[in-house]
Amino acid sequence: MEKTTSVKETRQIIKDWKKQGLSIGFVPTMGFLHEGHQSLIQRSVSENDRAVVSIFVNPMQFGPTEDLATYPRDKARDLFICESCDADLVFLPETSELYPAGFCTFADMTVLTTELCGKTRPNHFRGVCTIVNKLFNIITPDRAYFGRKDAQQLAVITRMALDFNTDIEIIGCEIIRESDGLAKSSRNNYLSPDERKAACVLSRSLQAGRVLLESGEKDPRVLIAAIKDIISNEPLASIDYVEIVKADSIQKVDRIEDPVLVAIAVYIGKTRLIDNFVFHV
Ligand code: AMP
Repeated sequence: MEKTTSVKETRQIIKDWKKQGLSIGFVPTMGFLHEGHQSLIQRSVSENDRAVVSIFVNPMQFGPTEDLATYPRDKARDLFICESCDADLVFLPETSELYPAGFCTFADMTVLTTELCGKTRPNHFRGVCTIVNKLFNIITPDRAYFGRKDAQQLAVITRMALDFNTDIEIIGCEIIRESDGLAKSSRNNYLSPDERKAACVLSRSLQAGRVLLESGEKDPRVLIAAIKDIISNEPLASIDYVEIVKADSIQKVDRIEDPVLVAIAVYIGKTRLIDNFVFHV
């Protein structure tokens, strides 16, 4: 497994692979890898001749009061995980490598970023689109893998690739969960033992929502109220949002029609966690 920190050396490796006609899969991450990331890397390894992972905590996608400074980092462990998944190249740039002095060009998006995390994290998706666009230009993969845990991000990247005529297949991968249902996340590391138990309320409330949908409920207000009710009963939880939107356009719906994304963001103590599911009527 090769490791690079500069754009130049990364490009050289990619160029050599392309000369040999090898296909390239790419998994962008912010590190502190867990089984969710591993599932993406393993899929990329299995579907491509070469698999690239990037590890970069992107300052541009964090708000001024968010957790950029405390975001968990463990480079040695991340490299071990990448190696054990058979990744071929890990790109670990410094911030100055990707945002040198004078940087002033951004990729921004409307419509898909007006609801959910776009509403409560202004500029988050501007940061995501900008970094993903940059990484796509550096790695130039055939395929790129994103988790459905960040469902809005997956929709945004899919739309960006379409709008910018990016010749990369965007592949969504299933959410990997703990045995009690909590979606794996690097931010779960922030939770105290009590908070960790309380965090189950995210998947539990969504499961109750799914049951309601399966029983034929078509009114999003009824569903949102039922999910909010369960979360409100957990003393350590406070709701950022509970929303039901069209899965592709991420716009609110008046009636539940195929397919919808049921998405929530909940603070457990000071830790903000997200979860979701897509429902096909
Ligand atoms: P992050 O390091 O949090 O930026 O995540 C990197 C990629 O891993 C993103 O595409 C995430 O959606 C994906 N990911 C994170 N957690 C999970 C999970 N529990 N299951 C599947 N994919 C995940």
